[in-house]
Amino acid sequence: MVARVALDLILRREFDYFIPPQLEGQVLVGSRVKVPFGSRLILGSVTTLLPQSEHPNLKSINKVIGEHAHIPPKVFELARWISDYYCCPLDATLRSVLPEAVRQEEPGWKEQLVVTFVNEPTDAHELSVRMREILALLREKKSARLALFLKEAKTTSATLRKLEEAHLVRIAPEISERDPYANEVILPTQPLELNPEQKAAFEKIAASMEAKKSTSFLLHGVTGSGKTEIYLQAIARALERGQGAIVLVPEISLTPQTVERFKARFSSGPLQTLVAVLHSHLSAGERHDEWQKIRQNRARIVIGARSAIFAPVEKLGLIIVDEEHEHSYKQEESPRYHARDCAVMRGQLEGAVVVLGSATPSMESFFNAQSGKYTLLEMPTRVDDQKLPLVRVVDMRLEARHDKGQGVPIFSRVLRERILQRLEKGEQTILFLNRRGYASSLQCPKCGYVAGCPNCSVSLTYHRHNQKLICHICGHNSAAPTVCPEAKCRNPAIRYAGIGTERVEEALPKLFPKARIARMDSDALKRKDDFKRILGDFRTGKIDILLGTQMIAKGLHFPNVTLVGIIYADLTLHMPDFRAGERTFQLLTQVSGRAGRGDIEGEVVVQAFTPFHPAIQYARRHDYLGFYDQEIEFRQQLSYPPHGRVAMLTMRGRNEEKVSLCADHVRKELDATLGSAGQFIVAGPAPAPLLKAENFFRYQIMLRGRQMPKLSRYLQGFTERVKMPEDVLMTIDIDPVNLV
Ligand SMILES: [Zn+2]
Ligand SMILES: [Zn+2]
Repeated sequence: MVARVALDLILRREFDYFIPPQLEGQVLVGSRVKVPFGSRLILGSVTTLLPQSEHPNLKSINKVIGEHAHIPPKVFELARWISDYYCCPLDATLRSVLPEAVRQEEPGWKEQLVVTFVNEPTDAHELSVRMREILALLREKKSARLALFLKEAKTTSATLRKLEEAHLVRIAPEISERDPYANEVILPTQPLELNPEQKAAFEKIAASMEAKKSTSFLLHGVTGSGKTEIYLQAIARALERGQGAIVLVPEISLTPQTVERFKARFSSGPLQTLVAVLHSHLSAGERHDEWQKIRQNRARIVIGARSAIFAPVEKLGLIIVDEEHEHSYKQEESPRYHARDCAVMRGQLEGAVVVLGSATPSMESFFNAQSGKYTLLEMPTRVDDQKLPLVRVVDMRLEARHDKGQGVPIFSRVLRERILQRLEKGEQTILFLNRRGYASSLQCPKCGYVAGCPNCSVSLTYHRHNQKLICHICGHNSAAPTVCPEAKCRNPAIRYAGIGTERVEEALPKLFPKARIARMDSDALKRKDDFKRILGDFRTGKIDILLGTQMIAKGLHFPNVTLVGIIYADLTLHMPDFRAGERTFQLLTQVSGRAGRGDIEGEVVVQAFTPFHPAIQYARRHDYLGFYDQEIEFRQQLSYPPHGRVAMLTMRGRNEEKVSLCADHVRKELDATLGSAGQFIVAGPAPAPLLKAENFFRYQIMLRGRQMPKLSRYLQGFTERVKMPEDVLMTIDIDPVNLV
């Protein structure tokens, strides 16, 4: 027998090896193996088993690692699909599928010395009083981590070694699991009673599980409609059926609060199981242990960000993708997969039920629900009949005219008045602005100078706390000048334009001197537990006004928040992206949803310069369908998703002229060879909206059409055929979400 192996080296091809007789039966698809490559031994994953190879002089597999295949067969099939559909070599895809921490030859368990009580001394008088005390303490504890016990017993390891020689205690290494949530105290929760809407949705999901049908549901429930409770009860149903579950959550929403809700429900009782957590902030060791808990079937529930879709859950019965519209489900490096679409594919492969949940479904998913590919579940009301908040849109152009000569104020009169009311009543306010820093650009009104990033085609953001100009693309930073840097100008009256969260934070105490204010954005959160601490303070009422970026846009549930203010609603509206309207509608709806989660009705004040834009107006009326209907028309006219699929080819390099020439060449090749894979509209090449990023110039060619799998196959061949010069890189992004 022969095994085809994808090496960890990413050579964009696979190699054949003999399976020696002594390893027969141990080598499976998905197994990790050690194989000779050149003069070295290299690790890799088995991708195929073959009766023979077309290549002569095969070398033999040196070693199989672990007892089981590391990648379960269905996950392996998923990896193949990703590789084909997203035009990414299998070896590169497998690197995303199997975390670095579990790819090692030796299992990465952390061992710790543990001391255990073994025997009573036959003659206690032979021991010193001190030793008898130590022994008594250990007898009580039965066993303890050596390091901790030494401290507690105020003794030394030499003393303990003497007790060990007398066979009274044992000191031995034991595996200790790293648990990132070890210090949390979690109180168990019971299932809540479902209201009729929730019940109807849950029963359809449960019936599908019962019928063992791989159905994909789109659960469209307004903010506060109780989607999480449905997730929890559906998971419970899967566990009852002896199946496991995966819950995908956007990285930004994967807060301790979220994880706790899932752990609490399954921390005790007949369905008790470990809940493994996978996200990018785990240490390699923690990631290894979480992954192993799943592989060993001790954790039957996995909650995690994008890559958790590859978790090796056995008998997978349910996949939940919460906030399915979130762009962070798309990986922006190779393999450029979309975790939501992978979830649907894995559901089909495993015969599992998939639930995509959102208050603002992506155009793609709602389109799929309309066309019958997904089953639509609607929950249009909030639990306990709470009303959706009243949304008021303020025209900031009028505010500017009212504040004669002062320019545009940060706060409209309405928002100021509403915040004051909340402060008087002891209720809380959330203020949202999706731009960090103090000002979005530094300009000289005299000569027109704008401080730009030397590496990217964007202006630098002014951060006041450290007096720096920072590029939000590449991180370049320099000291903020106090006079115009133009040698001929030197104007001391340089101006900061465009407000960021820092500037709002500065303005707040002047307007509301008594308010307790906290800011939450990636600059303000310096330490690991800052996030938790600020949220804790907000929950317990120590903060009146919480100001933040999209970090506070979703998932937070604070009953005492009765006002949400959106400082600039149109920030995302004018991006050069066909999804700008959709993004804005989603963001406004999500942020507004933070208001009125308790007994008191909520209110939202939206400040905008284009108040009559449909995205803002439909969000004001909580009218998802209205938004969808007008948006889908525009998408159809231009063959944009979901009516067509998009593939984006990007050429990048340091020399703009060369990149542009290569892009022209690629276009010519496409025109000459696209042929029957065609019926695609080809646009470009054109400079990317953000032409230069991190010193690389980028040119794009966009293909739009219907038959994506066909185009994927064509593009795969295309990349192998069309050679780029060494300093120009071509990437293919299928179903891109980031077009900038
Ligand atoms: Zn100047
Ligand atoms: Zn930059």
